[in-house]
Amino acid sequence: MLLPPDTWLPQAPLEPLHLDWLTDAGIEVAILRLDQIDPLISGNKWFKLIEHLKAADRAGAEGIISLGGAHSNHLHALAAAGRRFGFATVGLLRGHPQETPTVRDLQAFGMQLHWLGYGGYRARHEAGFWQPWQTQYPTLHPVPEGGGGLPGARGCMQLRAQVCAQLTGLGWNDYDGWWLACGTGTTLAGLVLAEAGDHPVYGALAVPDDHGVAQLVERIVQEAGVVDAAYELFEASRGGFAKVDPLLLEFIEKTGQASSIPLEPLYTGKALMALEQQVTAGKFAPGTRLIFVHSGGLQGRRGFDSQA
Ligand SMILES: *Cc1c(COP(=O)(O)O)cnc(C)c1O
Repeated sequence: MLLPPDTWLPQAPLEPLHLDWLTDAGIEVAILRLDQIDPLISGNKWFKLIEHLKAADRAGAEGIISLGGAHSNHLHALAAAGRRFGFATVGLLRGHPQETPTVRDLQAFGMQLHWLGYGGYRARHEAGFWQPWQTQYPTLHPVPEGGGGLPGARGCMQLRAQVCAQLTGLGWNDYDGWWLACGTGTTLAGLVLAEAGDHPVYGALAVPDDHGVAQLVERIVQEAGVVDAAYELFEASRGGFAKVDPLLLEFIEKTGQASSIPLEPLYTGKALMALEQQVTAGKFAPGTRLIFVHSGGLQGRRGFDSQA
């Protein structure tokens, strides 16, 4: 049994976000705090895992094998879920053995780790990559990097209902769109599926253009058979994935002081900063109401702080 008990239904709080640049432009933003669903199983990675866990459960698997880097939010959420709900987890890691706060947690949660090197990790998209691992771990169900694909997106669809259930609490009767960070675009694709054209979904790209996010979103939308897909992507990587600059760090610091919202520099910080740029440039009319998704990732920030 890989699924959490029915009583474990993580709900993300929806809170008003007050920042001067929003007030000045007459834009209202509510922030969906996926970073607050649980102390350990945090962020969009839990929602991306749900349908994979259901598939593994249906297949009679005893656990999950997946892959990621030494700061991976995905492996962290997976290992924490395995520990909490009592299933086995194996993590295939990029690069050579290193100690990061994330890796220490993975080990403490009981995840078995294999380091693939860089070349070995690059081979993850090749046909036959999983074969030897499935021979070694025949009872484990493989989940792609980051919990992606259509199952990953499907798990994120419920975020729409979580928002709708909390709108009246904000005094809103509706909203005009979503704004969130994109790595693979799976979470955005889930919202696009859930909306089916009702509200647009705006994605801030935490990766450079050539990562094929648009193609991946298209593939998921087509696979799901959804016709009305309303979304728009914005460059937000600021020179590359995980590239950090002083302006970004200053923005994160300032936002934390003004709103007490903690952001990390890889995804959520870049996403909110890209929103500021668009708001300041007049992309949204005064009176626009947006949902900003805080996709989590704060555990990964620890490794970053100690490097800086
Ligand atoms: C993984 C991750 C993302 C990107 O999610 P995708 O579904 O791959 O687009 C965004 N924010 C945080 C904090 C993440 O860990």
